[in-house]
Amino acid sequence: MIKSRETNNRKSFLFPIIALFSLTFSAVLALIVVGGEEAIYKLQQLNFIPDEKTICIDPGHGGESSGAVYGNRYEEDDNLRLSLLVRDILTDRGYTVVMTRDNDSDVSLAERCKIANKARASLFVSIHRNSSSSEKATGMEMWVHSSKPTDDTLLAQNILDSLETVGISENRGIHSGYRDGADKNYYINRNTKMPSVLAEIGFISNEKDNKDFDENIEKYAKAIADGIELTLKEMNGQ
Ligand SMILES: [Zn+2]
Repeated sequence: MIKSRETNNRKSFLFPIIALFSLTFSAVLALIVVGGEEAIYKLQQLNFIPDEKTICIDPGHGGESSGAVYGNRYEEDDNLRLSLLVRDILTDRGYTVVMTRDNDSDVSLAERCKIANKARASLFVSIHRNSSSSEKATGMEMWVHSSKPTDDTLLAQNILDSLETVGISENRGIHSGYRDGADKNYYINRNTKMPSVLAEIGFISNEKDNKDFDENIEKYAKAIADGIELTLKEMNGQ
């Protein structure tokens, strides 16, 4: 009886340790699996066969979602103005441009990706303006998926290089993942089935960037169109 009780005691002592170990192991395994899936998600999509003449342009926000606000200036309006110019330039060059919105309407992120995927667009460019609590923050930056897919990064680089030739306050470079967490991604970079980039075209919270935006909007639109066109050519080995 005594021996048996000792055995029971030892078992009851070991059980929580084994349980804790199992739980920790499961949690770590789950993190590896989920993290891994997230990282390779975009790469799997490279099997997507695009119609090389269709481009999807996504003016960020719209409708109830104004995006960043600076005085009476709304990001959703800037994004749309620039995006419509990019559309016109690409259309003139013979491309089919699919817009996720072409007016001040609410379009969910899921719907934006659905529009692009359904159209089998070759490239997806989401146009935004940045914002900071510091009015000193300036410049343009591009965001790609955390797995840094080759064609997405090429697209970001070509657009940024092209914008820089127009003149920008600061080149903030290409970033991967998500602003608030390196292990996360912007929804559109995660859910579009073609190379995609989220472009931050200057800070709406900075006077100089807004002046540049207004004065150079047509040149910036042409620069974005040039970056898109060059990427398509390079992707097709031209
Ligand atoms: Zn935005």
